[in-house]
Amino acid sequence: MDSINNIVIVGGGTAGWTTAACLARVLQNTNSQITLVDSPEVATIGVGEATIPPLVEFMRFLGINEQDFVKKTQATFKLAIKFTNWNTLGEHYWHQFGSVGADIDGKDFYQHWYKSTLNGNKNTYTDYSPAIAMAKENKFIIPPAAQGQQQQSILNGATYAWHFDALLVANYLTEFSTKLGVKHLRGHVESIEKHENGFIKQLTLKDGQTITGDFFIDCTGQKAILIEGAMGVEFEDWQHYLPMNRSIALQTENHGPSVPYTESTAHEFGWQWRIPLQHRTGNGLVFCDKYCSDEEALETLMNNISGKPLTEPKFISFTTGKRKELWKGNCLALGLSSGFLEPLESTAIHLMMKGVVKFAEMLPDKRCQQATAKEFNRIMDIEYLSIRDFIILHYCTTSRTDSQFWRDCQNMPIPDSLSEKLALFKNQGRLFRNEFDLFTPPSWYAVLTGMGIKPDNYDRLVDISDTKQVQSIMDNGLANLTNTVQQLPMHLDYVKSFSRLT
Ligand SMILES: Cc1cc2nc3c(=O)[nH]c(=O)nc-3n(C[C@H](O)[C@H](O)[C@H](O)COP(=O)(O)OP(=O)(O)OC[C@H]3O[C@@H](n4cnc5c(N)ncnc54)[C@H](O)[C@@H]3O)c2cc1C
Repeated sequence: MDSINNIVIVGGGTAGWTTAACLARVLQNTNSQITLVDSPEVATIGVGEATIPPLVEFMRFLGINEQDFVKKTQATFKLAIKFTNWNTLGEHYWHQFGSVGADIDGKDFYQHWYKSTLNGNKNTYTDYSPAIAMAKENKFIIPPAAQGQQQQSILNGATYAWHFDALLVANYLTEFSTKLGVKHLRGHVESIEKHENGFIKQLTLKDGQTITGDFFIDCTGQKAILIEGAMGVEFEDWQHYLPMNRSIALQTENHGPSVPYTESTAHEFGWQWRIPLQHRTGNGLVFCDKYCSDEEALETLMNNISGKPLTEPKFISFTTGKRKELWKGNCLALGLSSGFLEPLESTAIHLMMKGVVKFAEMLPDKRCQQATAKEFNRIMDIEYLSIRDFIILHYCTTSRTDSQFWRDCQNMPIPDSLSEKLALFKNQGRLFRNEFDLFTPPSWYAVLTGMGIKPDNYDRLVDISDTKQVQSIMDNGLANLTNTVQQLPMHLDYVKSFSRLT
């Protein structure tokens, strides 16, 4: 078999270095050469600091020491996202990492909980989540199961991720990858030459140097110089579903307690993120320029940050959507060059990680047969579409009518796939997980209940269980959770002692 021996990655942002690290690890005992080239003239985007749990697994797979990583990237732990003002002004809800409650008599916890609310239970769905129980109290430990321990614990239902400094992560992965043999070149790609069959042959840098390769990975962010510039793959625009197209990022000094969650606070025409790290806090506002000017957006952000600004506000435009094909010929797009879904659920780094892992699993030979690329594109399509629908859910279900933006959100078109999911949920609260849907039913239930969406009824099959016994299981579980969490360390104390362990 004519294996691909020479892989060229263009772009040295989070996507480029995550891709390099993964391929260097997977191909470490082969003859493959991986080269990463990035431009001294084009800065990385420098945002992207909230993550989701599969990234923790990914770093373990790479063999990265977690304590070392947390220390060197100034990371903190993340258990959830707190959504404030999304449905009604002054109210909030949580989207947890991990499970909520546990199945009872083989039926989903949500169904038992929903039935109990009809009988007077005032606790919210996510009150039964171990991640939320910790998040609300600013407490944290890595649950025993996630540390590979056998110990039984009610906290084992929680999973976690990190908040980290994007620049430090890129530096960390640069060091990691170059140690594994990745060749790093600094240079601006100026032209791209193709073979007769349409495959990329070589890149020419501004200084005249040429780089040949068997396979090329486009990690050039919004420039997309390979996948769009050379391969001509079109971008599928999803702004009619997800109209956000602009953001401001601003770093501030830490202020107040270090919370183990991302804050997402809705404003009149967009939403604000707050990401606490060890050494500073990342803040930003995401909005749609149809509804407000840059000046209004900046004023809103500045009025709602705490802590002294450390940087100038940075405006970033983006278009929500995805490449029609992520993989074409001998070129694959990962990171922002492949698409972007706005940062509401911190899914961009995840999608790039999924992409590179899937690519490694499907590693082609030099022919890069179309069937392999087609299957890869099919899988990544489902990943993207499922996440897209989940993000739309946060907007289209709002009850806010205090601004044109929120009124429009209630009337905007939604994809058929989401309408069908909502119709299914409406009828007895049932959700069925698609293959490759990142978000499991507890995530969908958390957002649906948080946004005040209720089914017509609960699933009648839960009537098989004894109602009093179920209530007692739920009450005992909650009491156990509360007691357990009380004994945990505060989040910041845990971070400090954890990063001292290296
Ligand atoms: C407002 C905002 C908030 C976000 N928040 C999150 C979040 O919380 N969580 C999350 O998971 N994701 C988030 N993202 C997405 C995340 O920032 C990106 O997915 C991630 O940073 C990857 O970017 P990238 O590496 O694809 O592109 P970039 O960081 O833009 O890197 C592009 C690279 O390509 C190189 N390059 C460009 N042109 C050339 C050329 N001609 N020759 C050579 N090299 C070239 C540049 O030098 C650079 O190294 C956010 C995005 C935005 C816009």
